[in-house]
Amino acid sequence: MKTQTYTQPKLPYAPDALAPAISQETVDFHYGKHEKAYIDNLNKLIENTEYADMELEEIIRTAKGPLFNNASQAWNHIFYFFTFSPDGGGEPTGELRKAIDEQFGSFEKFKEDFEKAGVTLFGSGWVWLSKDNDGKLFITQGPNAGNPLTDGLTPLLTFDVWEHAYYLDYQNRRADALKRLWDIVDWDVVASRY
Ligand code: MN
Repeated sequence: MKTQTYTQPKLPYAPDALAPAISQETVDFHYGKHEKAYIDNLNKLIENTEYADMELEEIIRTAKGPLFNNASQAWNHIFYFFTFSPDGGGEPTGELRKAIDEQFGSFEKFKEDFEKAGVTLFGSGWVWLSKDNDGKLFITQGPNAGNPLTDGLTPLLTFDVWEHAYYLDYQNRRADALKRLWDIVDWDVVASRY
């Protein structure tokens, strides 16, 4: 049985490029240590198993326990870091903006609801914006390695609310950390997922 090896994708920006929203120190640990460890563990766990040649999304939909945790955390972190750009910020436009305005009332109200979901998630996890097959939007909390793929949704945007994502820069101030991430969201990337 052939076992594929997942490679950690290079970041599309310099490690200091997201500062001050996310410092280089946090990128070095979060991307360089945490994301890398999830991908390394994923590779070890699939070796010579029925998951060896499965698509990563399929592993997330079917695996349980440590394999689910590491597969989903690998996917989530890659998705997270590719959502940001030093030229990000501003507001979404086009069809995505229309859907946000229709379903949440306004972009400001959407941001408020999204931040609230992130702040009130107890413990570690992710806050997500996803869509269903009809284009309807959902804000959900994913505890630990949670991913909306397991609920049949298509993820569009996520903020990592594990302490390792913000503690070096914001200590216990999760709300402040989430607020600053809007400055680096690349809405073209998010819209392309919609
Ligand atoms: Mn993380």
